[in-house]
Amino acid sequence: METLVAQPEAKAVVTTAKTMHALVYHGPGNKAWEVKPVPTIKKPTDAIVKIAKTTICGTDLHIMKGDVPEVTDGRIIGHEGVGIIEEVGSAVSNFKKGDHVLISCITSCGKCSYCKKGMYSHCEDGGWILGHLIDGTQAEYVRIPHADNSLYPIPAGSDEEALVMLSDILPTGFECGVLNGQVQPGDTIAIVGSGPIGLAALLTAQFYSPAEIIMIDPDQNRLEVAKTFGATKLINNSYENVTERVKELTNGKGVDSAIEAVGVPQTFELCTAIIAPGGRVANIGVHGKSATLHLETLWAQNITITTRLVDTVTTPMLLKTVQSAKLQPKKLITHRFRLDQAMEAYETFGNAAKEKALKVILTN
Ligand SMILES: [Zn+2]
Ligand SMILES: [Zn+2]
Repeated sequence: METLVAQPEAKAVVTTAKTMHALVYHGPGNKAWEVKPVPTIKKPTDAIVKIAKTTICGTDLHIMKGDVPEVTDGRIIGHEGVGIIEEVGSAVSNFKKGDHVLISCITSCGKCSYCKKGMYSHCEDGGWILGHLIDGTQAEYVRIPHADNSLYPIPAGSDEEALVMLSDILPTGFECGVLNGQVQPGDTIAIVGSGPIGLAALLTAQFYSPAEIIMIDPDQNRLEVAKTFGATKLINNSYENVTERVKELTNGKGVDSAIEAVGVPQTFELCTAIIAPGGRVANIGVHGKSATLHLETLWAQNITITTRLVDTVTTPMLLKTVQSAKLQPKKLITHRFRLDQAMEAYETFGNAAKEKALKVILTN
């Protein structure tokens, strides 16, 4: 029958939400690439970003193991990436639809007392929430709160793949390692851990021309990579006595700055064992267990120990150094996948030593 009359109930049908695919956490050891609703603007300060490229972080592996219990079942993971603005809330003034943006792993309002101090990591309405307390970037779209302060414009003609390294690992290696470690020209420094974060510290430490950079890791491949990135001495702690080797290399003194880029008690304790009097131990690693602090040997050594969550306040500066090719973060990228191959990408990144993987790029 073609002679239909208007059906009021048909008009009442709500348009179904647009859907997308995303990498979703379902409790320790469980994840899935599945259909989720496309995020929508919740507050006037929000922006919706269509993801162009994202990556997997060591932190995501910790989440997948269940080490970060605040992450709940159903959460979309990921806190790094670049994309294109799809929609902005009415209060967003720095960005408009179509703008290419770098997503910071840290969300910040720019107005609270911590933000005013440049300590975005502790923003009272942000901090590290992306892919943690709110849905993240391993998806086709992401909602970014406080978009004006949490996104950075990408200059035209940039290599966007390289800029993914600026969402988290480069500011983290630089701020928590190099700046807190107060690396100075002529210093001898040690970086414990030659993974992506340790290598990011290695790349950015060279802004300050240290005389020697000693890289310490049990994986020979990662040490060889570090050498091509500018490390001057390599120590493989799977068969070498690190403390003895460092003493040999430093006339018995130890290093001026020791940067911890692993996050286990042994590597932190190692940093405090190889530090010279007056030196700085800068912790970057995410620690799940307590470490022993040997105050009985350290109390008179004039050392400084620092901790920090990345604030990403140096991101604009780092962007300029990438633009000028002074910093070449693209070297950290070893594997590339399509975004819909996210499960495969996790498999590769999760077996980093075997796969010789540093950073993997997922392209939407
Ligand atoms: Zn990360
Ligand atoms: Zn704030």
